[in-house]
Amino acid sequence: MTQVKLLAVVDAFLQREHGHFINGLSQPGGGALRPVVNPATGQEIARVHDGCAEDVSAAMAAAQQAFRGSWAEMTALGRGKLLLKLADAMEQHREELAQIETLCSGKAITLSRELEVDQAVAFLRYFAGWAGKICGETTEISLPPRGGEKYRGFTLREPLGVVVGIIPWNFSIMIAIWKMAAALVCGCTVVLKPSEFTPLTMLRVAQLAADAGFPPGAINVVNGNGGLLGPMLIEHPFCAKVTFTGSVPTGRSVGNAASALAIPVTLELGGKNPALFLADMTVGEMVDGIIEAGYLNQGQICASAERFYLPAEKMDEVLSGLIQRLARLNVASPLDEACQVGPLANKAHLEKIQKLVARAKEDGDEILYGGYSPERPGYYFLPTVVKVRSENSTLMREETFGPVGSFLAYHDEEKVLQQINNSPFGLAASVWTHNLNKAMRYSERMQAGIVWINMHSLLDPALPFGGVKGSGNGREFGSAFINDYTRLKSVMMRY
Ligand code: NDP
Repeated sequence: MTQVKLLAVVDAFLQREHGHFINGLSQPGGGALRPVVNPATGQEIARVHDGCAEDVSAAMAAAQQAFRGSWAEMTALGRGKLLLKLADAMEQHREELAQIETLCSGKAITLSRELEVDQAVAFLRYFAGWAGKICGETTEISLPPRGGEKYRGFTLREPLGVVVGIIPWNFSIMIAIWKMAAALVCGCTVVLKPSEFTPLTMLRVAQLAADAGFPPGAINVVNGNGGLLGPMLIEHPFCAKVTFTGSVPTGRSVGNAASALAIPVTLELGGKNPALFLADMTVGEMVDGIIEAGYLNQGQICASAERFYLPAEKMDEVLSGLIQRLARLNVASPLDEACQVGPLANKAHLEKIQKLVARAKEDGDEILYGGYSPERPGYYFLPTVVKVRSENSTLMREETFGPVGSFLAYHDEEKVLQQINNSPFGLAASVWTHNLNKAMRYSERMQAGIVWINMHSLLDPALPFGGVKGSGNGREFGSAFINDYTRLKSVMMRY
């Protein structure tokens, strides 16, 4: 066991009075103090002032002023250079940011380093690379000339304005950076609303950004209750765009609120992602694939698989191999570098998963492994293997967002595809096989925003990400993000 010792700067940061980051300054605000709880211990580690209407107004006004002023006056390459400087600063503060993230979310420290900070840095650098490359196009105009005159048209890409980014607790740095970096490189400014469970990391990142030279108002963070602050931010007259990642019900309400005001909205919501294993995979390969697809970060990844389809003739052998592997995973403090199973991110989430598993038991699904919390402090829940009765089981339809894999055997590869697609959601899916021909055909027919072949959950900034059906709209990353943060203006001239 290698228990990480907290850095002195982390201890000092936790002791501070926290609130918001507005107009280039850390601002406690005057709202009630909300405890931040370490999910590994259930103990309070810091306190953050809840935001109120005045904080929202101040943040939106600062962002609007920067959008019209300092941020607009900066060249595109200047904006890219600042994103690169922030990436360097985050790299230098890697351990500090990772420790704060682990303390707030319960994420294993190795994942906080590699998936939160390192990935956030990679995304920042990717988006920085777009600076100076976001452009419109010239077009030929076909209006009939009456006296020898000519026409030319071209399009400009205009930044939308102040972007409200609403962030979930599962990746409090990385998801915030996806939204923030994309918006900033397009020339927008941002007001971020982290989850009330993970309010600290982006306060630190915003300070690093200010130290790196970002002008006041370009990046703002307002903390507090989402149900209260979300509508205030969306309905604020300066809100030009909303980008949200989180649960389906909250996403729908965010989508409705934004659409009612004709504000463009990107929604990256959850789902019930499937993983299909074809019979040519070995038992060992299937076990490895299931662990990668379903159990990383205790399943608290929006793209994680929760529905597993296994060939009937291999099902029992695969589940027995899986259970042996899960039983060997190291359930530990997330500050232990050898931790493989940490706590769930918060108590409400643990209780939600406990209820879903209890209901599955009552409904007659078979809990083959796990299904309960181990005897230790904090919000732990063992990796769980459920053999479901049918595709209609609650666990095949409702997102647990936890370490709960639901397994169904199939006999017919064509029918299983229909079962897989018979879902109101479509964020992500994977197919596992050595047969390239089948893999390509399945990837075309699976209804999801991203289909992985022989892998799952890993994202790359160059490849667009987002859902179909009830899993949302809009695409992050690649070049697709440009549509989400800019609008086209057409210019036509006669000469
Ligand atoms: P939510 O979707 O409710 O929260 C995501 C973000 O939205 C948070 O910042 C939250 O703030 C904010 N929010 C809450 N209500 C509103 C509102 N009315 N308007 C605008 N913003 C709002 O997720 P939870 O954190 O409550 O988790 C609930 C469940 O959602 C989890 O158990 C999990 O199943 C699922 N989930 C899915 C994610 C995904 O990526 N697919 C990510 C996170 C959760 P606040 O935290 O203050 O409420």
